[in-house]
Amino acid sequence: MTFTPYTSSSRPQTRQHDVLVIGAGGAGLRAAIAARDAGADVGLVCKSLLGKAHTVMAEGGVAAALTHVAPTDSWQTHFRDTMVGGKLLNNPRMAQLHALESPDRVRELELWGAVFDRTNDGRILQRPFGGHSHARLAHVGDRTGLEMIRTLQDRAVALGIQVYMECTITKLMTGPAGVTGAFGYWRTTGHPIVFAARAVVLATGGIGKAYEVTSNSWEYSGDGQALAYEAGAELMDMEFVQFHPTGMVWPPGVRGLLVTEAVRGEGGILRNKDGERFMWKYLPEDRRAEYAATDEEAERWVTAQSQASETDARRPPELSTRDNVARAIYTEVREGRGSPHGGVFLDISYLPPDHVRRKLPSMYEQFKELADVDITKGPMEVGPTTHYVMGGIRVDAETGATAVPGLFAAGEAAAGMHGANRLGGNSLSDLLVFGARTGDAAAAHATGAPEPYVDPVEVRAASDQLAAPLERGEADGEDAYAIARDLQATMQQLVGIFRVEADLDDALDRLAELRRRWQHVRATGGRAFNPGWNLVFELDHLLTLSEAITRSARLRTESRGAHSRLDHPATDDAKWGSVNVVACRGAEGGMTVTTVPLPAMSDELRSLLGTAH
Ligand SMILES: Cc1cc2nc3c(=O)[nH]c(=O)nc-3n(C[C@H](O)[C@H](O)[C@H](O)COP(=O)(O)OP(=O)(O)OC[C@H]3O[C@@H](n4cnc5c(N)ncnc54)[C@H](O)[C@@H]3O)c2cc1C
Repeated sequence: MTFTPYTSSSRPQTRQHDVLVIGAGGAGLRAAIAARDAGADVGLVCKSLLGKAHTVMAEGGVAAALTHVAPTDSWQTHFRDTMVGGKLLNNPRMAQLHALESPDRVRELELWGAVFDRTNDGRILQRPFGGHSHARLAHVGDRTGLEMIRTLQDRAVALGIQVYMECTITKLMTGPAGVTGAFGYWRTTGHPIVFAARAVVLATGGIGKAYEVTSNSWEYSGDGQALAYEAGAELMDMEFVQFHPTGMVWPPGVRGLLVTEAVRGEGGILRNKDGERFMWKYLPEDRRAEYAATDEEAERWVTAQSQASETDARRPPELSTRDNVARAIYTEVREGRGSPHGGVFLDISYLPPDHVRRKLPSMYEQFKELADVDITKGPMEVGPTTHYVMGGIRVDAETGATAVPGLFAAGEAAAGMHGANRLGGNSLSDLLVFGARTGDAAAAHATGAPEPYVDPVEVRAASDQLAAPLERGEADGEDAYAIARDLQATMQQLVGIFRVEADLDDALDRLAELRRRWQHVRATGGRAFNPGWNLVFELDHLLTLSEAITRSARLRTESRGAHSRLDHPATDDAKWGSVNVVACRGAEGGMTVTTVPLPAMSDELRSLLGTAH
């Protein structure tokens, strides 16, 4: 392959599509397929190689009430679990659509060639996960995301969708009638490219790189959320960042790497350095009845699950929701009962080695290769890691439409589905359900939209922004890596699992200072394959999102789901139980954070919540 070097006289390439999908993870691929099926001409852009999106890393499974292992499961119980897990801050219509439609979306994947693990009678096997009342996660060992991406990608390529790989979008183009396209550059050459489009779907994933310890890959710099915010869309629920309870803590080079919840789903037991099974202490009183009462009952449940048989035993305490388990581990470590490297122990080695290797092949290899630990013989050391953001772009439940006409969002980049805390497995199903709906809606919008006009003045401004860091001299600025390190340290220390107002104020001061430093950021070298230059634009987005997270966290003076305020430890339903926090650009250009009422819930849905409401 040859690359033409970029020169300042090079004009941007231009391309036009009815629908431009930015992001080729599960949400973007599913949206592109739906838009194509609806007759639209679709362009699909991703900043890494096709197939490398974050979705490929998903391990544990995709949640859908297929009722293959748990015949008493239903969309109603899936809806209830999702709402209860989200502490009732979810958009109820989104939670309903998700629960209703995820079984069809999973079966469709199977029709398109996905090979799931099987029950003894040949149906898709389902495993239990934290916060799910029934065994609900369709899975492929602990490599579910790989199978999902492979299947969707095959389908998208077969449909002839035009893919632009290693192409980063840095700006959305807008006009008086809404979005008109996007501007970006090829990572391979640095050459700019302009897309004109009648509708744009953002499916760019999460924001994990705002933190030091994260399970997320380099791609998670919140680009879509920041692009939407700049274009006039709203960001919602940004205070709710999910810290997954189990990431690797040792060796330092792999700190934060995910240890899938499937380990606990398969029966993994958490213990502190004194050997105490501490999760018994941390079960919330109002949910205690859903969990086993003794080690013996928990073990009976594990045995039944491993044989895919029915049992009257209740699930082990380790399968409490992620927010609760993460806080429990953090507390054990802080109070001096942690493991040698600052985590706790997670043990699955009491199960037969063959079973562990078959059900958790990636975990077996991950610990063997990276930490020299054989998980069939002894415990893993684990601790919380930044994993997922429940907040994101505020969208319409049915269509994924944002406040900007023609601009849509789906997947982790969008908000509403998961409320204050996401249940494991509910992201992959979210991508399928809302990816499909959003792709459909974007295609419908494109049908009636006028020919998109991309303003050359906007293109010029975006091109100048690309060039600026390369044109600054060494004396005029600093490199992006130093600013990124300080940003991650700020968010980790001051806006982490436990928050207090003084820390959040301190964080806002530091973020303002980091933004000032960013105005003078410089990059050395050329444009081709230059990660230091690429980071400049990702850092811009991370700074915006970190501010949104911190301002939203400061406003919500209560503890709920993944948001824990040490200075406001109680859940305050009267003040905060029926509002979402929304951040948007104010008239003066600064960020405004306010509250909006939760969408109304139908009587039918309310009745499903029973006493949870
Ligand atoms: C290790 C791990 C395990 C997980 N396991 C599970 C699980 O078992 N079950 C579950 O439900 N969830 C799981 N999750 C969460 C789930 O994988 C993610 O939430 C989900 O994959 C997000 O999908 P997405 O389509 O929204 O984004 P992604 O899959 O991340 O795709 C984002 C796409 O956007 C592109 N992009 C980003 N910015 C730009 C830009 N500026 N220009 C162009 N392209 C851009 C990227 O290149 C990429 O193609 C896991 C997450 C991790 C990290």
